[in-house]
Amino acid sequence: MANHETREGRGATNRESWAGRRIIAHIDMDAFFASVEVLDDPSLKGKPVIVGGDMKRGVASAASYEARAFGVHSAMPLFQARRLCPNGVFLPVRMERYVGVSRAVMKCLGEFSPLVEQVSVDEAFVDLTGTGHLFGDPERAARSMKTRIGERTSLTCSVGVSVSKLIAKIASDMNKPDGLTIVPPAAVARFLAALPVGRVPGIGGKSGEELAKLGIQRVGDIGKYSPERLEERFGKFGAWLLEIAEGGEGAPVEPYTAPKSISAENTLDEDTADETIIRRCLLEQADRIGRRLREEGFRGRTVTLKLKHHDFRQITRSSTLAEPTQLGGTIYHEALRLLAVYNLGAKVRLVGVGVSNLEPLDAIEEPAQMSLFGASYGAEEKWEKVERATDEIARRFGRGAVKRGSLLEE
Ligand SMILES: [Mg+2]
Repeated sequence: MANHETREGRGATNRESWAGRRIIAHIDMDAFFASVEVLDDPSLKGKPVIVGGDMKRGVASAASYEARAFGVHSAMPLFQARRLCPNGVFLPVRMERYVGVSRAVMKCLGEFSPLVEQVSVDEAFVDLTGTGHLFGDPERAARSMKTRIGERTSLTCSVGVSVSKLIAKIASDMNKPDGLTIVPPAAVARFLAALPVGRVPGIGGKSGEELAKLGIQRVGDIGKYSPERLEERFGKFGAWLLEIAEGGEGAPVEPYTAPKSISAENTLDEDTADETIIRRCLLEQADRIGRRLREEGFRGRTVTLKLKHHDFRQITRSSTLAEPTQLGGTIYHEALRLLAVYNLGAKVRLVGVGVSNLEPLDAIEEPAQMSLFGASYGAEEKWEKVERATDEIARRFGRGAVKRGSLLEE
């Protein structure tokens, strides 16, 4: 059932004064990849779902709460997850689908504030400062965000609200899933004093052990030591600890700005007019751009070829595709066409390709269309599938594992 608790108790938080303080919310989708899989296949509801690479190697990217009950967690090697949860449903990562849902989530957040900083596919900070006249007090605004995300995506998230990104992030993790934790200004000192240092993002096992040796179990214990002592012992990390203990506001929420174009270029080892070398270069660049377009959820319409001649004379040639693409192959072929039309002649020292006129892949229904692949194969769709599979291999085994045929020819 929904767990809309506020840590500091309801009611009291509403009347707390936020005057002059920032109001930062951290939104974290619950078991995101696994939840999307359950959403797409309701027969998985209530089952331990583990999303990860292939079955023999790799690590779990996400685990449903049912799987977590078996001790499975993300970043756990899959073989271990299998051992703990032999009846689990193990599914491959479908990043493009998660990116599509993620966009819908971020769009919701953007309706509450222009200051939305996406930190990962399923996490974002929202600066709600000064939005009170629109969305009510922070608790009310946070509930509205949860409701709106729920309506648009049918997924739950956990939200933390406080005066800084750090505290908001820690708070969002306190009542998962479907949680809401508000740490108003007046409660910050108390909240931090009692907070186990291990809950602070950035304090890992090793630094946690070091702190424990000094008797620092909770953030409140940090103040037992003088700033000099901490800096002497931990260097910059010590200064950072102090900042946390003092509950400062830290860095502001930095809204994401969408790229206007994605490009790649290389200066050649040697000036050349050899089209084979140039082509190979373009292919590698086009693949790189395609990967970034897919990772960041864009398609681009305009392809630009850039050449710098040995005498530093630079030319660019652009053309616009009939359909926007996120495929390295399509970008490559367009770049080749531009190269052929340009009619090289003199040696070049730099080769580059860019894609602009980007369109975000934002509709939540977009990936649903993609799942129709099996039924209707367009050439572009087929390649999209191939290139996505390639991304997956590269993610698992490293870039070197995937090279196009003509890249290997020497
Ligand atoms: Mg999450």
